[in-house]
Amino acid sequence: MNSAESQLNPSHLADSLPEVAPNIPDQVNFMDYVKGMKFFDPHVHMTSRTTDDYQAMADAGVVALIEPAFWLGQPRTGLATFKDYYNSLIGWERFRSSQFGIKHYCTIGLNSREANNEVLAAEVMDILPLFIYKEGVVGIGEIGFDDQTEAEDKYYRLQLELAKEANLPVQIHTPHRNKKQGTERSMAIALEHGLDPGMVIVDHNNEETVKSVLDQGFWAAFTIYPFTKMGNERMVEIVQQYGPERIMVNSAADWGISDPLAIPKTAALMKIKGIPDEAIRLVTYQNAIDAFAQSGQINVADFENPQAIDQSLKFNGNTVLRGGQQPRVDKNSIVIR
Ligand SMILES: [Zn+2]
Repeated sequence: MNSAESQLNPSHLADSLPEVAPNIPDQVNFMDYVKGMKFFDPHVHMTSRTTDDYQAMADAGVVALIEPAFWLGQPRTGLATFKDYYNSLIGWERFRSSQFGIKHYCTIGLNSREANNEVLAAEVMDILPLFIYKEGVVGIGEIGFDDQTEAEDKYYRLQLELAKEANLPVQIHTPHRNKKQGTERSMAIALEHGLDPGMVIVDHNNEETVKSVLDQGFWAAFTIYPFTKMGNERMVEIVQQYGPERIMVNSAADWGISDPLAIPKTAALMKIKGIPDEAIRLVTYQNAIDAFAQSGQINVADFENPQAIDQSLKFNGNTVLRGGQQPRVDKNSIVIR
């Protein structure tokens, strides 16, 4: 994809054009394969998703998630919108998630795209310390490179220093263009700044990047993109080849075409393809917890046991229910009341 095209679709999907549909048997219901399994999605932008998504994720076994701070699809024009966005990640969105029984964590950072607005980026850096120490903030993210500009380099380095100072994990967004080079550069800079690779989660990997990421001791996260090259069949092959250690799967679902059920679907496909249960558990649940729990902000008891849901609860006077609505009880009923 050239850069003009990427400007038209600059979401997480920007790296590749639609390919063939994934080769999953048509009549298979993934839910049949994941009953009783728990999933942790370490990268999903719920702000952009609906209550139906939350419900479907909960039904499929997603018990906890991490929402990284990112680019909202158009550039922000002032500091106040960054502030409100960060506040929503630790406030309203966390509450909304809780209304579906899903534990919500977030990472806070200045995304690579908006690092290129240098005046605003400097202001954002000043307010980051007000948010990164809040409860439930499990890392600095997602940060790194987009176009690999000078400004991106500068703000990536500044945020690595911030992560070091706060002793927080780092969630790295690797670029969709020049991925191999951008991934190597991201890791080299992290090492140059003295970060422990065990505190750094490198995201959006593919077959070209995974070996080096693992060899250097970083965590390797994989985003399952629907209708692109990095579908979940390739993910199965990567786990077959490299094993489950330090590998994690995420949906990175956002405002673009994406699938918030990418993790349970991938787990089902892994089961069908004969990946051992324990390996599936590691890459769809435990590894993400181990990586981000280094923040000291994850208590597994908060999501390992079923959580009571009370959709009549309020957050600053607001609920997920519209006037007169009753909390949803039977989601499968064809009658919508
Ligand atoms: Zn993202």
